[in-house]
Amino acid sequence: MNASPFVSERLLFTPAAPTADAIPAIFAFPNEYSVGITSLGYQVVWATLASRNDLDVSRLFTDVHEALPSEPELLGFSMSWELDYVNILSLLESLDIPIRAEARSAVHPLVFGGGPVLTANPEPFADFFDVILLGDGELLLGEFITAYKAVRHSDRKTQLRHLATIPGIYVPSLYEVTYDGNDGGIAAIEAIASDIPAQIQKQTYRGNTLSASTVVTAKAAWENIYMVEVVRSCPEMCRFCLASYLTLPFRIADVEASLIPAIARGLQVTDRLGLLGASVTQHPEFDTLLDYLNRPEFDHIRLSISSVRTNTVTPKLAETLVKHDSRSITIAVESGSDRVRQIINKKLTNNEIVLAALNAKAGGLSSMKLYGMAGIPGEEMDDLEQTVEMMTILKQAAPGLRLTLGCSTFVPKAHTPFQWFGVNRQAEKRLQFLQKQLRSQGIDFRPESYNWSVIQALLSRGDRRLSHLLELTRHYGDSLGSYRRAFKDLRGTLPPLDYYVHEHWNLEQTLPWSHLQGPLPLPTLVKHLKTATSSFQQPLTGFEPTAIAH
Ligand code: SF4
Repeated sequence: MNASPFVSERLLFTPAAPTADAIPAIFAFPNEYSVGITSLGYQVVWATLASRNDLDVSRLFTDVHEALPSEPELLGFSMSWELDYVNILSLLESLDIPIRAEARSAVHPLVFGGGPVLTANPEPFADFFDVILLGDGELLLGEFITAYKAVRHSDRKTQLRHLATIPGIYVPSLYEVTYDGNDGGIAAIEAIASDIPAQIQKQTYRGNTLSASTVVTAKAAWENIYMVEVVRSCPEMCRFCLASYLTLPFRIADVEASLIPAIARGLQVTDRLGLLGASVTQHPEFDTLLDYLNRPEFDHIRLSISSVRTNTVTPKLAETLVKHDSRSITIAVESGSDRVRQIINKKLTNNEIVLAALNAKAGGLSSMKLYGMAGIPGEEMDDLEQTVEMMTILKQAAPGLRLTLGCSTFVPKAHTPFQWFGVNRQAEKRLQFLQKQLRSQGIDFRPESYNWSVIQALLSRGDRRLSHLLELTRHYGDSLGSYRRAFKDLRGTLPPLDYYVHEHWNLEQTLPWSHLQGPLPLPTLVKHLKTATSSFQQPLTGFEPTAIAH
């Protein structure tokens, strides 16, 4: 039998000894230990809970768990990946907890969830949770526990009603969704009582001490990595980008007061460092950080950077990465077409991409991975030809630098200006076009699965009616065919797959997340959308953003 992975952990915080009447709780990650423990969000929330003596928290993963309480009062899930809902349902069953919140009673724990998937659009999963925390854990966790303690010995209904009054705490069962017929859009989403807030505001932490690993272990998917969050959100606001719009405003870790001390703490226990953030090189003092990491005492550390903005790839950055055992750098370019980049608000030119490649090569890196997207709203075939041309120019400009173009399909995300657009049905063909053109030139092209993008779009724009579909699908498997089969089984009770995935939604339509307030007001998103569509070559049929007076 394998030894428990928990014994290999090196903790960077001190767990509290629970008091006699501490609240028994389980904090779960709906995937294997190696995946969950590599999530900085999971690590930080667990440490926050485990540092409190009024909680007695045990961890649960799909493959291992700590000793679990026999009667937990709280069961939390950190959800980072949409398809992990399957594991949430299985874990609930394994704990003898009904998977639907409405079937739970006083003998069951309150099931709460948080994390990026649930903060963006919790609705397809809403019926599985009693409580969903919307926003940053730094603010929400303490408020949630305090509010729970105030009603700990009350009945479940009172508990939920009280929790729903706390900013950022969403109790789905207290909102009624009505539809324009069984297979139509949403007619309205309303709180069931006047003392329940009509809108739930996502909570935003505005401090400048960001997250850092609370545990380092050889059993993590990134073995022994110590992670620090350098920035949160991204100021670029590319119009499809959830990592920017959902988490605005852009915040930075204070380099001297918090980032460097956090790194120094981590490097006492490991020699592998990960700098995390949507766009880490946009930290205004990133150069100071590089100087710190380039000190001789850190020559042995291995450095990974999650993503960098293209026009911040300098020879110094490349040299720092090479010195610390990285051979490759990843940049997101989205397209080789200036017009498409204008549509998406990506402030980047092909010349800057060429310069990034030259700098990467000059600094000693051996490969550069570019990320692109097919099916971006407003994209035409000649835009794809320009992407091919850009890759050809890059190959000639930086011979010897190994180039890879990874390419996904545009998927609409809640709270972004592109949330109203559907997935382009031509995207699969467009990926094939890029593949044919680029591979024939010896350029490594790696398309992401189009079918997976369709499923992602379904979950990303889904409403509560999908919960029944998700219950069915998990028994059918996670292929697109399984989802189609479940849609067929449920025909007449919800709109077809095309409605969620491919149709452009009207701006007047009530969105499944209309009652959840993200960082930006709707009129700002509409304004961005209008600016984007003004660069379209052809008007979109059935979609008239100009008709909306905002
Ligand atoms: S630069 Fe990257 S992280 Fe920033 S908004 Fe654009 S796509 Fe998102």
